[in-house]
Amino acid sequence: MNVLFDENCLACKTNAGIVKPPGGAILMTDSWRLEHALLPAVAGRLILKASSHREGDSTRSMSLEGADIRWLAICAIKAVVRPVRVYEASFCEDVAHAHYHLLPRMEYMSSVGGGDGAGIRIFEAMNRRSDWHASSETIEETVEAIRAHIEKMTR
Ligand SMILES: [Zn+2]
Repeated sequence: MNVLFDENCLACKTNAGIVKPPGGAILMTDSWRLEHALLPAVAGRLILKASSHREGDSTRSMSLEGADIRWLAICAIKAVVRPVRVYEASFCEDVAHAHYHLLPRMEYMSSVGGGDGAGIRIFEAMNRRSDWHASSETIEETVEAIRAHIEKMTR
């Protein structure tokens, strides 16, 4: 079911400005909104979400546009925070609103995995590990640098 706004949805509340992501929106289109994750957060952890409440990409063109924005965002995360990898994930369980997590997997995060990398455990660890969280100033600077990188790529 697609509605414009669901008052119980965290993604809708951020879209409406009721909850404010650090540094503001990085990129907006009619269908998508790219923002930094809410604090506390690892610097460079981004969320791409539908600009209105929906539980999936409703059209092929929306899906293709979302893929393009994720590509731009991943390039910018790599350039700005220099992770080993960028993980992409979309669960839409606790928050059903269509959204994608873009997670910078830094070198120091490899310890949470069973092998060389961090894997799915990174998701929970990014919320729990306060020693991984950046200051709001650092995150705002990161957002500004990511925004500038994307603007340069799309000029
Ligand atoms: Zn929503």
